[in-house]
Amino acid sequence: MISSEIISVGADKLKCLINSDEIRHKVDLLANQIRTDMGEEETPLFICVLKGAFMFASDLLKAYKGSCELEFIRLSSYNGTKSLGKVKKLIGMDFKEVRERRVVIIEDIVDTGLTIRTLLDHLAVFKPKSIDIASLFVKPARLCHNVTIKYYCFEIPDAFIVGYGLDYDEKYRNLPAIYVIQK
Ligand code: 5GP
Repeated sequence: MISSEIISVGADKLKCLINSDEIRHKVDLLANQIRTDMGEEETPLFICVLKGAFMFASDLLKAYKGSCELEFIRLSSYNGTKSLGKVKKLIGMDFKEVRERRVVIIEDIVDTGLTIRTLLDHLAVFKPKSIDIASLFVKPARLCHNVTIKYYCFEIPDAFIVGYGLDYDEKYRNLPAIYVIQK
């Protein structure tokens, strides 16, 4: 169900792209799909990438009908001393925990794929049994890094979206649906 409702948040107008019922439906389907793939015996380790994936992770795990564990990580960006510019550092968990585990990274949106590629390369060093990605959104037209997104809820065109954990300048993360900011 695609909604076109327009809401006001402060001085801004936001147009609804995907409403909360549709999100819930897709998230429930995805949780069932992951559960089926994992089977009875596995206790996968879900790793939620903060901040953007917090709401998605919460709903996905509530809908996941099986044994699982949850960790959180964050990519902190800073300007390095090298001329390469931005360096991203992973913080939040003891990465040795992933050894021999089935890992599912929970991400808000895969755009160019750089963030997820960085995470996959980092985690692979610690020898997990498997690593899959569960992303709320993918933007296929923008993807330029070599990553396979096994689990996702929505494919979207090249538009900047907010809400349901996703921000613009730290705002709008609290909105329960997905919006595009109106000019
Ligand atoms: P990538 O590394 O794949 O190019 O970008 C992924 C990250 O960029 C996401 O985790 C998210 O933080 C941010 N991002 C990409 N597209 C959007 C978007 O449409 N809206 C918001 N709010 N963030 C986005």
